[in-house]
Amino acid sequence: MDHATAFAAVPETVREFGFFIDGTWRDTAGRDTLLRSSPGYGRDVSRVTLCTRADLDEAVAAARAAFKRRVWSGIGGAERAAVLLRVARAIRARVEELAFWETLETGKPISQSRAEINDAAGHFEYCAGQAQSLSGETFNNHGDDMFGVVTREPVGVVGLINPWNFPFIVLAERLPYILASGNSVVVKPSEMTSATTLMCADILKESGLPDGVYNVVTGTGPEVGQAIAEHRDIDMVSFTGSTRTGEAVLKASAANFKKASLELGGKNPQIVFADADLEDAADGVAFGLCFNAGQCCVSGSRLVVEESVAERFKALVVEKLSKVKLGDCLDPETQLGAIVSEQHCDKILGYVDLGRQEGADVVCGGERVSVSGGRFVAPTLLAGVRNDMRVAREEIFGPVLCLMTFRTVEEALEIANDSPYGLAASIWTKDIDKALRVMRGVQAGRTWVNTTIAGGPGQPLGGFKQSGIGREGGRMGVEEYTEVKSVHIAIGKRTPWVK
Ligand code: NAD
Repeated sequence: MDHATAFAAVPETVREFGFFIDGTWRDTAGRDTLLRSSPGYGRDVSRVTLCTRADLDEAVAAARAAFKRRVWSGIGGAERAAVLLRVARAIRARVEELAFWETLETGKPISQSRAEINDAAGHFEYCAGQAQSLSGETFNNHGDDMFGVVTREPVGVVGLINPWNFPFIVLAERLPYILASGNSVVVKPSEMTSATTLMCADILKESGLPDGVYNVVTGTGPEVGQAIAEHRDIDMVSFTGSTRTGEAVLKASAANFKKASLELGGKNPQIVFADADLEDAADGVAFGLCFNAGQCCVSGSRLVVEESVAERFKALVVEKLSKVKLGDCLDPETQLGAIVSEQHCDKILGYVDLGRQEGADVVCGGERVSVSGGRFVAPTLLAGVRNDMRVAREEIFGPVLCLMTFRTVEEALEIANDSPYGLAASIWTKDIDKALRVMRGVQAGRTWVNTTIAGGPGQPLGGFKQSGIGREGGRMGVEEYTEVKSVHIAIGKRTPWVK
């Protein structure tokens, strides 16, 4: 079968995945397993092992042993960079296969999966540079008898717990940053979308990453995820997922006071001023809502529009949403993909009902759409929403947009910031002063002006308030996975303390 045919249709057979410890595959024979049904097609596509705490212990021991052998932690940044660049090349060579499995398991459109896999390679390339340039500080100003240096060293063994919505790109926004300084890793992907994290194991091994540095255990959150957070031989936990689970991870991580980095939920405002290019803003709002079918931490799910243009803008957004192409996830023209699970679909539609009960109008969408055997939710606009309604405060995590209006810049900021979350915000205006004032005032780790959900490896990601702790990406993303050591070095003969 040629390349194009192999990745053009849902496979006839279920792909079985083992798990990966110390450079070797462990098979699923005699183990409890979990079948994954593709959200876009309603057909079983993959099966993974439900690992146990004993499997995790083995993975952590392998990661610790590799760290202590210094096969990765002890080599130079240039050598680490060479491996990371080979990984990037290998990812680019396998874009079609990785994107295909990403789409099958998550239900995201294939064009989006391809873009995310290519972007993932970019993170490995960026981190090759970071591996070589990571440095500390020197203090040559302590006087003639003292010299100071601040060094950075890898934290050790990192436990990485990832969500289902962006399996490979979330992995790539963390893994090469973790590897750049020499750490070892134990990853637990979401039980629903483990394929590409497992496929990454072969890529890393073929690219020369020493055995034991990258380990993958699959399974459920309450079993394997919780055990990672609690594990006494893991030095740091990096968690990306919901705020509620993040709280449990933070509490569990106190077992050995491990470092914790948390990337959590959001309820992100799209603030549209009357002087914006309303056509551009409506397009950006439609994209920010429909990207990943709204199952996106930085989804622009609160539309906060200046009252004088609200009716006109609402019509523009509805027109855009009516043209979004929904359906067959392997069709390159599809823009809006499937909803990850039946339970999650019920939750999204439950919020639409709640919105009605709270007094909102369902202007468009609000219903489930079944095509190609998959489950989809039509892009939905709720108007007449107040910021104290539950639909405006809670993360719906689907293509459901809540429209609110404001009259002044101060009121826009008050609405934007009146949220337990602080992950992202978008500001649409052609007035540079207004854009800068709102950018400064808004409480959000990622802020966009006249665009939304833009980014790349260089700039850090993270949230204010209940959206998280710490930053991923950029130079800070590498430093996050290091410990800092402050060193004072005496020069010359000591002045005696005991006379
Ligand atoms: P989730 O919290 O349900 O699960 C995330 C991961 O945690 C999964 O691997 C899961 O198995 C595991 N888990 C579940 N219970 C656990 C426990 N008790 N201890 C340890 N691990 C446990 O989140 P999800 O539904 O997979 O993902 C959606 C959420 O992720 C949304 O809230 C979204 O905003 C957030 N998210 C945030 C970012 C970001 O960068 N801030 C990025 C992507 C997703």
